Amino acid sequence: MENLRLVTQTYYDIQAIRLEMEGRVRALTQPQRDSKGKEVGPPVMTEERAEYYFAIPIERFRDAEAHCQKRLAAEVKGVPVWESYLKNVKGIGPCMAAGLISMLDPRKAEHASSFWRYFGMDVREDGRSPHRKKGEKQNWNPHGRVLSWKIGMQFLKAQSPYCTVYYAEKERLEAKGAVNDGCAFPLQREECKARMSGAAGRLGREAKKPPCKEHAHRAASRKMVKLFLSHLWAEWRKLEGLPVSTPYALGKLGHNGYIAPGEMVAD
Ligand SMILES: [Zn+2]
Repeated sequence: MENLRLVTQTYYDIQAIRLEMEGRVRALTQPQRDSKGKEVGPPVMTEERAEYYFAIPIERFRDAEAHCQKRLAAEVKGVPVWESYLKNVKGIGPCMAAGLISMLDPRKAEHASSFWRYFGMDVREDGRSPHRKKGEKQNWNPHGRVLSWKIGMQFLKAQSPYCTVYYAEKERLEAKGAVNDGCAFPLQREECKARMSGAAGRLGREAKKPPCKEHAHRAASRKMVKLFLSHLWAEWRKLEGLPVSTPYALGKLGHNGYIAPGEMVAD
């Protein structure tokens, strides 16, 4: 298990640098903008120049990631929660499983919500998920937050059975936003409106209505991933012979009722 954790950490470290490099290249090869997004100058670098400098490092990092992926796939083999549950979840490959296995501990999590909290997916007093604040100690794992977004994207890409939860929630939030000044979230409505009209103003367009598609997408994805994490929690606790409070998802995930883990995996 310790090896799995070390290789996973290495994999995520390498991937983080590679993503940062790609972001930098994107920024360098696009027109320069001020803090408000207004175009203030030509790109710092041509695409060709950026390729000359950065294509090979990025490629090498990708190779290193692929190497780690291979090792991770070998490492998760035989791990009970992979063999008897995770490998049957459409959209969860060995690398994501390795991330989950190395970051989460079912013995320390008495409730499914402990997994959510550890990944920073709970809603705090101000009505939003926790954010990094200067000088404040974090009690959630930022890598876990990233992993949860990746899982959401993978579910959508693979058209996992979990997507039904996503689509229903997205539709509900968009409909709610449409009759609530564009945003389904009362506490963030003003902020969202300002952002959307700001973006539209920069691009010389009318503000979109309803403006909060991205907000609805994120919230729906979070709900979908939280359901999956609660299933993972229950299956994993059972495997470890630990007590599972049921129905753990009921009442916490809105009005969809209880969905059993078995409904969401391949036969
Ligand atoms: Zn919004």
